[in-house]
Amino acid sequence: MRPNLLRRLVTRTEGFVKGMMFDCRACGQCVLKTTGLVCPMTCPKALRNGPCGGTLDGMCEAAPDRPCVHVRIHGRVVGGEGTDLPPLLPPIDPRLMHTSSYLNYLSGADQPGRVPLPYLDLGCDRKRQPQQTQSKLEAAMKAGEWIVTSEIRSPRSADWSALVKKADQLRGHFHAINATAYLNGRPSLSSPVAAAKVQELGLEAIAQTTCRDHTRTSFVSEAMQNQLAGVYNLLCLTGDYFVGAPAIRQVYDMDSALMLHEARHLRETGVICFTGQEVPVPPRPWLGAAINPFTTPENVPIRRLKQKAAAGADFIQSQVILDVERFAAFMARVCDEGIDRDLFILAGVPVVIGKRALEMLPTVPGVWVPEAAMRRLAAAADMRAEGVAMAVETCEALRAIPGVSGVHLMLFGTDSSAVVEVRERMSA
Ligand code: SF4
Repeated sequence: MRPNLLRRLVTRTEGFVKGMMFDCRACGQCVLKTTGLVCPMTCPKALRNGPCGGTLDGMCEAAPDRPCVHVRIHGRVVGGEGTDLPPLLPPIDPRLMHTSSYLNYLSGADQPGRVPLPYLDLGCDRKRQPQQTQSKLEAAMKAGEWIVTSEIRSPRSADWSALVKKADQLRGHFHAINATAYLNGRPSLSSPVAAAKVQELGLEAIAQTTCRDHTRTSFVSEAMQNQLAGVYNLLCLTGDYFVGAPAIRQVYDMDSALMLHEARHLRETGVICFTGQEVPVPPRPWLGAAINPFTTPENVPIRRLKQKAAAGADFIQSQVILDVERFAAFMARVCDEGIDRDLFILAGVPVVIGKRALEMLPTVPGVWVPEAAMRRLAAAADMRAEGVAMAVETCEALRAIPGVSGVHLMLFGTDSSAVVEVRERMSA
């Protein structure tokens, strides 16, 4: 039989059998042995490592009637209690898609996409290590300050006026400001461009990036751009799976742990991990990541947090916290596992100041909204006042939780003066 014919026969037979047995998506670099025989390519985001922050009650953000693929993987590999560090699976090699993973295994072609990446040796008790970057946020965290950050949205046209006005309101109140961009898949100025402007306006900026919108190439290129502009903080996010309009193709060339690993590898070694190319002036960002503490079973976000720390994260901004008691239970586990010795953890606090924002809150992927919080805000005669009061109370309660280094205020509404008011009413 001719070699090409044989290859096609093996590929088709493998695809058919593994498709029936594992819902295999024929990536050609099979990791079923590492993932408890659950195919990670069946995740709608095709994440190799997960879950993303959108899963709640074990279900998928993008397909809410289906269990989250990565929650299933954790369950198969370590059960409902295990908390050991997960392996870091590399990004796939797209050239191997729809080829035979058996043949690729035999030839060794699947190795770069199958064999887990080694974690970098980043030392222990990392919060106590001397300053690593030029970030002022890092300096404040390491000085033991109670950290308060917030956000500013990148403009949706080539016009700085609204951003400048908001920056004027926020200046002097926060340790750093995230420059958010491409919200709901809509075009805007990029986060590095907005972050550079925020920095120029005298605030410490955090650039954001999502694997939904980036390939490895554009991710590293933006990190270089940040370094050039004097933006020394970078938050690496998965990004919400976008099901509405506009109907865009979503990238997911990496997952958030792989982004962290790529950025940290570059910071530590001056070499781009996926190309092997040396960069004479490498970007050296203070690296942030996100976590959803309300992902269940409870060991899943603990393992994911460990993975993000090992991949290179320095700080965390958590998903929205409206259930302080449940978050405190999560943080107790974080401290038991010693993760709080390596990561500065900021709790995400929503500042909900309008009826439309309140209605939207439970629809945000991964957000857990207790009934009591909804009732309290919905019944308020003055929702802005109640939203601010509730955020202040939440911040004070979070302050008492061991392992929490500060809060990240997220405005649900448009009036930035509300987050400033929360900041001013918090105890110093
Ligand atoms: S919740 Fe996220 S990680 Fe889990 S299957 Fe859905 S998209 Fe993938």
